[in-house]
Amino acid sequence: MDHFALKNGVLHAEDVPLTRIAEEVGTPVYVYSRATLERHARVFREGLEGVPHKLIAFAVKANPNLAVLKVLQQQGFGADVVSGGELIRALAAGMAPEMIVFSGVGKTRAELELGLDKGIGQFNIESREEGRELAELAAARGERAPACLRINPDVDAKTHEKISTGKAENKFGIPMVHAREAYDELAALEGLNLRGVAVHIGSQLLDLEPLETAFAKVGTLVEDLRAAGHTITHVDLGGGLGVPYRAGENPPSPAGYGAMVARVTKDWGVHLTFEPGRVIAGNAGVLLTQVVRVKRGGNGPPFVIVDAAMNDLARPALYGAWHDFIAVEPSGERMTANIVGPICETGDTFARDRECDALVAGDLAVFRTGGAYGATMASSYNSRGFVPEALVDGDRFAVVADRIPAAAIMDAERVPDWL
Ligand SMILES: *Cc1c(COP(=O)(O)O)cnc(C)c1O
Repeated sequence: MDHFALKNGVLHAEDVPLTRIAEEVGTPVYVYSRATLERHARVFREGLEGVPHKLIAFAVKANPNLAVLKVLQQQGFGADVVSGGELIRALAAGMAPEMIVFSGVGKTRAELELGLDKGIGQFNIESREEGRELAELAAARGERAPACLRINPDVDAKTHEKISTGKAENKFGIPMVHAREAYDELAALEGLNLRGVAVHIGSQLLDLEPLETAFAKVGTLVEDLRAAGHTITHVDLGGGLGVPYRAGENPPSPAGYGAMVARVTKDWGVHLTFEPGRVIAGNAGVLLTQVVRVKRGGNGPPFVIVDAAMNDLARPALYGAWHDFIAVEPSGERMTANIVGPICETGDTFARDRECDALVAGDLAVFRTGGAYGATMASSYNSRGFVPEALVDGDRFAVVADRIPAAAIMDAERVPDWL
């Protein structure tokens, strides 16, 4: 459930008509709903009521906007970060260092140092090499870095191949068969407080079964590690819960997920970490755009050319992803269209042969479910500048990220004096 709905024929975010945001901020613009973020945070937390000791760490990469992070910090969330930049954001949003988990397969030495400097709660180590490096850096400070070893459970998450992370051929984690050896080695290092394992098998999962399979494998590993004399106090179960992008998609509910987790982990006796991203932010945002013109006369349906493009919302170009597309002031008429942006690539296509609200030049429309992996993936391709972001709260809104115009990006470039 979200707070984007038609009121008096105009699509609103909570109590703000999107026409008002378009007028004041211009388009394209991402619009987030605070009430929706809070609702999703609450539903996720309530789903995990059967899990006694836990940390819910929002996956910052899904939506790193500072205001969004602040909303989630106020909901008691920590952060799962995958770069030094995200770590700095989480801290800037007021997240407690001990509620920050640092994931990622390629943390640099500087990033490991930053995590140690800030005293973060946990490093999720993805290789023996990384574990040794972290141990060395921490030992040099006379510290022991809190860490979990990320396991690759070799489970098919049955999602898009580009966001599947738990198969043997993916770059993430340590293969299950080598987990014991790796754990033995790293647990013995002076600079590490290796206290458990982590797993994350992919994103936009529409079925609990692969998650349960992965968690069951983790449970077996925890038993093996304990039998080998290791003290296991923490397990990180990652994120990945899917959201409905289109009618008919029925992702598992947080309550169903929570019940499965409670059942599978009930005898583990550990503190659990969760790293939800998409399920919190996805349906809490839309990308508001204006129709530049409608181009007719090709072989197929007309091209509805909007002022948003693949640089603003990459998912359709990157994953062939579906985003619902609806008019801000629907007339009730329908059309079939190809919905495209202005960028000079055929990949800049949001939808093909899409049945949608009838639109003409100047009309406003939104791509729904743009709150996760939307603005965060934006680029300035075609020198289009960076798309701004607005956060709605009841009948007010604030611009929470300015539009960065192409000229400002150009200002950071230099032509050397020998040219
Ligand atoms: C991307 C990612 C997440 C979040 O995934 P969602 O599908 O957005 O919930 C969590 N943990 C790790 C390690 C990730 O890379």
